[in-house]
Order: sequence, then structure tokens, then C-alpha cells
Amino acid sequence: MIAPTTLTHLRDGLKSSARMPLVFLGHGSPMNAIEDTAFSRAWTELGQNLPRPQAILVVSAHWMTQGTTLVDVSDVPRTIHDFYGFPQALYDQNYPAHGAPDLAREVTTLLASHHAAEDDTWGLDHGAWTVLKFLYPKADVPVFQVSVDMTRGLAHQLEIGRTLAQLRNRGVLIIGSGNIVHNLRAMRMGGKPQDFAVEFDTLFANKLQERDLATLSDRAKLGTLLTQSHPSIDHYLPALTVAGAADGKDDLHFMTDAIELGSVSMRSFVFTPNAA
Ligand code: ZN
Repeated sequence: MIAPTTLTHLRDGLKSSARMPLVFLGHGSPMNAIEDTAFSRAWTELGQNLPRPQAILVVSAHWMTQGTTLVDVSDVPRTIHDFYGFPQALYDQNYPAHGAPDLAREVTTLLASHHAAEDDTWGLDHGAWTVLKFLYPKADVPVFQVSVDMTRGLAHQLEIGRTLAQLRNRGVLIIGSGNIVHNLRAMRMGGKPQDFAVEFDTLFANKLQERDLATLSDRAKLGTLLTQSHPSIDHYLPALTVAGAADGKDDLHFMTDAIELGSVSMRSFVFTPNAA
């Protein structure tokens, strides 16, 4: 079991550098956007310690596409309230950041061999804005989303990350937003972490620590633990994008490793450029 890195330790790794860190956030319930939770507090503290990016690229679990990786080139991405049955206060939320259309078009070209295409209809879904609201509360950094292609498998998503990695040297903060374990059917109010959830969450953390991305992207090796943890793969893919964008010059830090409602892992992680 890997102990979560304290934010103090993480802060030391976030000293300014020409190369941007990488962030994966377990976003969990949209209610984190309007409640004071351990997670929203950790996101605020992380935001206060991140270097200021030129732009933010968010790979969100909630923008699922089939056969294509879409890149949002909107001037001003709309705030999407893509959930049902929540309090009005959540529908009243708006994240008014500008987009980064020129950069987004460039990213589409960069990912051309990965079946990328431009889109100007999406915006910011709750995978993006419920965390951005805490990281950058002034909404003063341009932001755009990249979708997850549900059809091309886990290794494809690592490749997307590897290709996007070069943007880090240009002040672009890459954020993946999903959950390391995400089985809504197995959720129980007040439920203890389920065995499969703990097992997959721990396995993921250990393999990521070892940089064993081959195992993390191998459905056969992950077996039923993967299908139990992700009946649908959408919330797992953004973690692979972030893992794929890291290399040996990065240090890994874990934060907020709780498992909520028995089957949703809130584990988040940050890669920071190491001193070497
Ligand atoms: Zn979600």
C-alpha cells in the first residue's frame, strides 16, 4: 500500500520549472463543486501551488466519442451541466474561462494520426469545471477539452498522452479528470470500500509507481478487476493519458486516495519535473 504524499511534500516538487507538471484528478460527485469537502480543499491547495499555465488541456471522462478524439476549438467554451437530479445551485454554476482555439487546432493536427478532429459544440463538462473551479477560481487561464475515444483501447490513450507530452514545455497544463475506480452500479450510501475497489486502486498505484504502463493498459492482465472497477472504461482513460505524458524525468505524487460510496476511488496524482 502506498501512502499518499502530503501536500507539503508535493509543494516542494512544484517549484517553477520550464516543464509543466501533469495532473490527474478523481472528480467523483458533481456535488464537490458546491460543497466544502476534503477533495475540493485539496484541489484548492493544489491550484495555489501549481505554476501558472499558458493554457489548460483537460481530458475529461465525460466527453466520450466513438472512433475519433475530438478537440474543442471554441472561443468561449460553455459550461455544461451534464447531470440529473441535483440541487439548483449546481445548475447555476458557470465557469467563464476563454478557450484556446489556436492551440486546440494545433493539438488536432498533432493528434491527426490518432484520428483527431475539431469540434466547436462541446465546451466544459462537469469533469472539467467542477475541478477547475477550485484549481483556478478566477477562470483566467484559457482552457479546452479533448475527448476520450471509447473504441480504440487503453494503449491508444497512452499514445495520446505521449504525443501531448511535448506541450508541457510550452506552458500547457494537462489535466486528466476521471476516477481510478468508477462503478456506479456497485455504489452504496455510506458503504465501506469494496474489495475489488481497494484491490484495483492499490494495483493501479503500485504499477504507476513502477511505471509499468504495459500492465495498466493490458485488459487481459487486468482481467475482471478492470471490468468490476470500470463497467465502462470512460473514467479510466484520462488517467492513462496523464500516465502516458509522464517519463523518467518526473516524480509521482499521490493525493486524496479515499474510496467513496464503496466503489468510486478519489485517488488523484501529480507528476512533477524532477531536479535531475
Ligand atoms: Zn464522472
